[in-house]
Amino acid sequence: EIRLVNGMLDISRLESGRMPFVLKDNIDIAAQARLLLHSLKKAAQDKQLVLAMHTPKQALPKVQADTDKLIQVLINLVGNALKFTQKGEVSIGLHKDGDFVITCVTDTGPGIPIEKQKLLFEKFSQASSRKTRVSGGSGLGLYISKNIIKKMGGDIWLEESEPEKGSTFCFTLPITHSTKAKEVAQRLRKEGNIQNE
Ligand code: ADP
Repeated sequence: EIRLVNGMLDISRLESGRMPFVLKDNIDIAAQARLLLHSLKKAAQDKQLVLAMHTPKQALPKVQADTDKLIQVLINLVGNALKFTQKGEVSIGLHKDGDFVITCVTDTGPGIPIEKQKLLFEKFSQASSRKTRVSGGSGLGLYISKNIIKKMGGDIWLEESEPEKGSTFCFTLPITHSTKAKEVAQRLRKEGNIQNE
């Protein structure tokens, strides 16, 4: 399966320290999230799921990130939310927190059993083997997302998950020109992992 192969390629790049980043200033996460939700409209309609976006009234600061990799992480989280949710809503919420923008993806799906929560971001972790075998996941998505986000100076975590109520995953990215953003650019450059398009 092509997605599994791509996942393995990402992992081999990450683990050997050879994953190039095209770091850009002034990435508009809200705009990227809106585009993604728009492209998933049909899939959501087919399952009768509502897609929503929650942004603060004040303008959200832009972040430093690799656009393609940011989209990869958004697709992982929103894709899982759509895949596992049978009824209700999938939403993306954005807000500023210090030098970071926090992006959260919330669903009204089955939730994740407490004993599986700790392993979620591990390689090949699948929270419920039978259910995920049906939905055909590889268990690599969150592991790759975590590594990518960390390399870009952020973090990713399960914020909340309640059985039968749903889950919320969040991740952060550093605001353009913040101390963290500069530190990340410097580190990636030193590692030889900056790629200019
Ligand atoms: P996969 O390709 O299997 O989806 P991920 O690493 O993206 O791999 O997710 C790992 C596992 O975590 C999934 O197989 C699923 O069991 C669980 N999971 C992830 N997101 C959700 C969610 N929104 N609701 C319920 N379970 C989830």
